[in-house]
Amino acid sequence: MTLDQPTDADRSRASAKNIEKMWKYARGFAEKSGTQLHPHPEITEFLVIGLAKHIDELGRPLCPCNFYEDKVAEAKSSEWICACDEMQRYKYCHCLLFVNKDGLPITEYLPEGHEGREAYGIIKDEHPDKGRALGRLEEKQGRAITKKTAEE
Ligand code: SF4
Repeated sequence: MTLDQPTDADRSRASAKNIEKMWKYARGFAEKSGTQLHPHPEITEFLVIGLAKHIDELGRPLCPCNFYEDKVAEAKSSEWICACDEMQRYKYCHCLLFVNKDGLPITEYLPEGHEGREAYGIIKDEHPDKGRALGRLEEKQGRAITKKTAEE
């Protein structure tokens, strides 16, 4: 597979400081959550640039893979601030920033009918001892919560 490489023009879309910050975050969160960065580093780099650009614009690392009617309002909610609610609940990253060793998103915790299950089938978690902080909390408390309420 041949993928486009990020260019200097792509890198100039975000500040060097926040790009560095997001690289550090991505490496650290992959380790913490028992996932890996994508085997094609250019995919990770594009995502890191997108997250850094959102910090520059909005002050928060809003997910770079969604369309938002109102980015400012979305950034105030925590749902799509990386690591998003889906990552924290199901260990599923639809951007492919946090994946398994084959570059696939973990889907085994997703509810039936979720688009990730439809697209990829069931992809098992190789490190079930790590990650899913929100999902574990919900299981313990027996109720649905959001990352925002868990933080409060
Ligand atoms: S899908 Fe979630 S975990 Fe993945 S890059 Fe977007 S916000 Fe981050």
